[in-house]
Amino acid sequence: MSQPTHAESARPAVPPAWESAGGMPALRITRVRAIGTAPDGIRLVVVKVETSEPGLYGLGCATFTQRPLAVVTAIEEYLAPFLLGRDPADIEDIWQTAYVSSYWRSGPVLNNALSGVDMALWDILGKRAGMPVYQLFGGKCRKAAALYAHASGRDAREVEERARRYIEQGYRHVRCQVSVPGYSTYGAQITPEKAEPAPQPLGLGSEPWEPTVYCRAIPRLFEHLRGALGDEVELLHDIHERVPPIQAIGLAKELEKYNLYFLEDPFAPEDIEYFRLMRQQTAIPIAMGELFVNQAEYVPLIRDRLIDFIRVHISDIGGLSPARKLAAYCELFGVRTAWHGPGDVSPIGHAANLQLDLACHNFGVQEQHEFGERTREVFPGCPELRDGYLWSNDRPGLGIDLDEEQAARYPFPDHPLNGAWPPVRRLDGTVIRP
Ligand code: MG
Repeated sequence: MSQPTHAESARPAVPPAWESAGGMPALRITRVRAIGTAPDGIRLVVVKVETSEPGLYGLGCATFTQRPLAVVTAIEEYLAPFLLGRDPADIEDIWQTAYVSSYWRSGPVLNNALSGVDMALWDILGKRAGMPVYQLFGGKCRKAAALYAHASGRDAREVEERARRYIEQGYRHVRCQVSVPGYSTYGAQITPEKAEPAPQPLGLGSEPWEPTVYCRAIPRLFEHLRGALGDEVELLHDIHERVPPIQAIGLAKELEKYNLYFLEDPFAPEDIEYFRLMRQQTAIPIAMGELFVNQAEYVPLIRDRLIDFIRVHISDIGGLSPARKLAAYCELFGVRTAWHGPGDVSPIGHAANLQLDLACHNFGVQEQHEFGERTREVFPGCPELRDGYLWSNDRPGLGIDLDEEQAARYPFPDHPLNGAWPPVRRLDGTVIRP
């Protein structure tokens, strides 16, 4: 018997066998759309899943801001036809069948497309039940999710001032990043007019990056901050995979005495075997994972107790369904959650993060983003930031909506890179990980 060809195995989307035997399900998916919008200049992709019940729809985050148009194509050309007619309550079966329908699977494009659908189905289920999604996950473990804010500056004193402002607002966790003068330092957020004149990488016309000057500057930053801010505040730092692995281990050892809450992304996903060596050298708490897309990357780090916080970007691993399994797996190994939550997670993605933050016993901390006024108009029901916490509005589903008319006012910016990360280069011109 020959293998079925793609054409032979292809068929219009129908309910699974146990449903179709009795005809179409009572509630069906009738439309799946990808909606792109950039109210604050960041390209966001949202999925809207509509159903046969008038007015009942769900929303999910599918934002991969560096490749948004590839995700839109995956949703509209592949997932939408695959899902029409399915019962939106079959969340697990839809996730599993859609995941393998491409045969080659995983990766940020397909996982984000799947995430948009998956979160939307949880949103629909919550709306039907009249419950916030965190109640479907077992209910609240806490009143709200503790946030960490980003304090950045040109020098240690400026970082200290910004950290103080957050502490005065009630924050107990602050991530601290400092500019290295003349270099393109991750997370320092220096406006061009304030930046030092920079040495140029060979003929490339952009600020360079060198790991050694950075590795020397960071212990000085935390020496200053602990002296100025005291021992009570939880301080965090993100290396952002930018330095050679042995320099990251050396930096971690130097930072151990400053009692960080966590040190983030010391290694690139390609170098995860170094975590075993780091664990033998230092007890600094490690957070890892915003670039992970496949369980083969993160399961060994958790199983072997090599990290302390899981930092995945929920839409990049495929949505709430895989994330809640991951959170439960982490709980059994004493690993806490710290879901990735910058501005390139849409407000719907932040609302999804919050469902798990509230329902998971092993929640650690949530990265925050202060959305602008325009973004909050496009997404009514944004979770509220107050007193250093993220608060749920306790509405059914994910508790957040999309104003499509407002969204249409903010198309993706017209730019040749279409959201791509520009190259970061060393002084000799060598491109490095961003
Ligand atoms: Mg990070």
